[in-house]
Amino acid sequence: MNLELSEEQEAVRRLARAFTEREVSPYAADWDRAESVDRAIVKKLGDVGFLGLTVPEEYGGSGGDHLSYALVTEELGRGDSAVRGIVSVSLGLVAKTVAAWGTEEQKRSWLPRLCSGEALGCFGLTEPGTGSDAAALTTRAVREGDAYVITGSKMFITNGTWADVVLLFARTDPATPGHRGISAFLVPADAPALTRREVHGKLGLRGQATAELALDGVRVPASAMLGPEGKGFSVAMSALAKGRMSVAAGCVGIAQAALDAAVSYAGQREQFGKPIAHHQLVQELIADISVDVDAARLLTWRVADLIDRGRPFATEASTAKLFASEAAVRAASNALQVHGGYGYIDEYPAGKLLRDARVMTLYEGTSQIQKLLIGRARTGVSAF
Ligand code: FAD
Repeated sequence: MNLELSEEQEAVRRLARAFTEREVSPYAADWDRAESVDRAIVKKLGDVGFLGLTVPEEYGGSGGDHLSYALVTEELGRGDSAVRGIVSVSLGLVAKTVAAWGTEEQKRSWLPRLCSGEALGCFGLTEPGTGSDAAALTTRAVREGDAYVITGSKMFITNGTWADVVLLFARTDPATPGHRGISAFLVPADAPALTRREVHGKLGLRGQATAELALDGVRVPASAMLGPEGKGFSVAMSALAKGRMSVAAGCVGIAQAALDAAVSYAGQREQFGKPIAHHQLVQELIADISVDVDAARLLTWRVADLIDRGRPFATEASTAKLFASEAAVRAASNALQVHGGYGYIDEYPAGKLLRDARVMTLYEGTSQIQKLLIGRARTGVSAF
């Protein structure tokens, strides 16, 4: 793997950094306090090309590579994880999955709008009773003529109240328990009998629209099914494997922001007659953050490189997601420590970084689930 970025990738990184510094970072603390990112950011993300970055050009995307995608998600994550998540879900989990599994009609119908930001996507897998054991989901889709009628509920859905389309997973064959009886659907979010309720009181990602969805007999045409009947779990897992790369990249952004904040504060704050950067134990905290940033970034770039070369990448994606998410929590916590008492108030960024980082070890597969996936790949034995 060549660690030198191409000119195009450097340009994408510059663009993402300038966009984040202009449109995201200055507002992140206010959005966090207000519990809502300014929705105008969606159109801006579409206009700059980030919502269609890796979608083929013929469907309105930029046809970019995954390393470029990792660079963009890192920069956005450095500014505000709530904004980074909008892109990771709408592009990474929804648009990319429509591009990979969709019929020509589904691609023409949804992709140009998702890429431009005219429409936003959300990913409806988790339910109130099923998270890690997603294959046990109970939402039902019953065939009635040339339609399916869907009933059930979904929990913790990122972009949930903002989205125009839900990539929804439901059981089409109740006689087949587990992953084989599940199918995927593209459900318009304004469908009658679909209600959405925002989840409040989150520890972090407070600006992000996280929702609970209730489906009470939502009727969609049979043509709304994404991928073959009974293959919905494969659709979900293919989306999440790539999604883990963008979560990892977002975590690199958090860790980098933690490093920036810790270095800046350590250079200014004086104790015992000199800047605290002169104290060796403060340098140790900063060195630990720095190592986490580098290691997490390298693991993330390896996944992007494997995807771009068409090589298997699932275990490497779990490895990067596991390491980078735990590293982001450590880095943010270390940065808070460097700030002393001031790290504990929201005038400084370390507290928000820590709160936002904390969910990264939970969603898109908890750290325990990533370890089981890596363990299964190494031993050939499934512990599920
Ligand atoms: P559980 O599965 O109940 O796990 C509880 C604990 O048990 C965890 O520590 C877990 O690691 C452990 N555990 C479970 N099974 C095992 C096992 N076999 N071995 C060892 N340990 C185990 N979901 C979506 O579908 N779409 C989204 O957009 C989305 N966005 C989210 C946004 C936020 C802010 C949050 C908090 C969650 C989001 N989720 C989303 C849901 C997320 O993916 C789940 O919360 C996650 O998969 C964990 O499921 P759970 O919360 O039910 O925990």
